Amino acid sequence: MPAVPLQSLWSATASAGPALTALTTARRAHAVIVGAGYTGLSAALQLALAGRDVVVLDAAEVGERASGLNGGQVIPGVKHDPDTLEEMFGPQLGPALVATVAAAADLVFEVISRHGIQCDSTRTGWIQPATSESALAQLAARAQQWRRRGAAVDMLSREEIQALTGSQRYCGGLIDRRGGTVQPLAFVRGLAAALLTAGGEVFTRSPAIRLLQVANEWRIDTPEGSVTAPTVILATNAYTDRLVGALRRTIVRVPSFQVATQPLPPQLRKDILPQRQAASDTWHLLRYFRTDASGRLVLGSRGTFAATPDLRAVRHQYRAVHEIFPQLAGIPFEYHWGGWVAITRDHLPHLHEPAPGVLAGLGYNGRGVAMANMMGQLLARRVLGASAIELGFPVTPVRPIRLHALSGLGARATIQYLRMVDGWSRSRAGR
Ligand SMILES: Cc1cc2nc3c(=O)[nH]c(=O)nc-3n(C[C@H](O)[C@H](O)[C@H](O)COP(=O)(O)OP(=O)(O)OC[C@H]3O[C@@H](n4cnc5c(N)ncnc54)[C@H](O)[C@@H]3O)c2cc1C
Repeated sequence: MPAVPLQSLWSATASAGPALTALTTARRAHAVIVGAGYTGLSAALQLALAGRDVVVLDAAEVGERASGLNGGQVIPGVKHDPDTLEEMFGPQLGPALVATVAAAADLVFEVISRHGIQCDSTRTGWIQPATSESALAQLAARAQQWRRRGAAVDMLSREEIQALTGSQRYCGGLIDRRGGTVQPLAFVRGLAAALLTAGGEVFTRSPAIRLLQVANEWRIDTPEGSVTAPTVILATNAYTDRLVGALRRTIVRVPSFQVATQPLPPQLRKDILPQRQAASDTWHLLRYFRTDASGRLVLGSRGTFAATPDLRAVRHQYRAVHEIFPQLAGIPFEYHWGGWVAITRDHLPHLHEPAPGVLAGLGYNGRGVAMANMMGQLLARRVLGASAIELGFPVTPVRPIRLHALSGLGARATIQYLRMVDGWSRSRAGR
């Protein structure tokens, strides 16, 4: 199978970010942050606004990894429903954690508005279209739990979901009106610009290759420079390397792959997602879709495990588009791209303190647009002295996954299995 040239829609359509260079000197700061995605930049911005000297280092360019590649779906909450979170974390931390995750989408839109970030943001909601009656029943329970806590989450009938998505494939759904969409690369570049305005510094093409304790401080070395600081924040998520080996073993990374069509003709734009919500359906291997500012349909799902997807992987995505939107037959596809998603064993994001003065936030399980931004704020507040209860988020030890070396094989097998389960459900439903 031939490889398919990869280009992301977002890099083709975002304005340039701030001009940045590699670190070539030895510096001191209050905090050094590894990773210039949403987590790292959000933490740095919060610390800079609190008057701290911050230096952010990235091995690549700003937004070259997940924060500039994702679907741009601003999804409130985490994978677990609020009642489950309260059961897991008890009467004190549980409700505080629910409040934290509930506020993640609000935070994104507040930051965009406060810093005037131009990233084509829309806030018409995030939809979960149901692929079966049993999934619909689970969505109804979820909606009810959120509504009890005052969130604007409603159920949609079959007719309503068809009108909002333009697809006949779903039997109903949920709309969470706190959610929405962003142009993800424009958003992360906007965060970097806001950080520079607030007095922070960002160095790109500057991989952190060593982390050393020097007296009561930490020094991070890059190939041509170093930063010494009392605090280090590791914000490397699915792209975590061997800088702190145990951290890499707390997540399993799985690929996610997206395609985007040409701008749709006016009639189809009126039909498909006319209000521009974000949507992720309820298949085990869910498909997520949205439109962009030019009216292209963007759809993603779990990808292949190859670094460069081949034609078979791309055809898989095309089939998903045509299954959900048969009216798009014949519309050409223009962009294909993908990246890595960090999955944790408990499906929760994690905030760790691997050593005194060293913090890490990662593991968003495909929901990092809102949650990584919230994690950045939590990390900054932790550096400024907040306890886990004040944060409304657990601070947990680094617990590497047992037999991590085999986890890639496990993830592959799980994806194949879930693909089969979805396939059986589809054939039972006659789709
Ligand atoms: C294809 C795809 C689609 C997705 N869609 C959605 C979506 O629609 N909605 C949603 O909520 N979430 C989505 N996600 C997840 C979301 O993008 C991530 O959770 C989020 O971007 C994580 O942000 P981050 O800053 O933690 O990590 P990243 O943005 O990946 O940043 C980590 C940075 O660390 C740097 N780094 C790593 N090691 C080093 C080192 N040693 N030295 C220096 N720098 C280093 C990397 O270069 C990278 O820039 C998607 C992810 C992918 C890949």
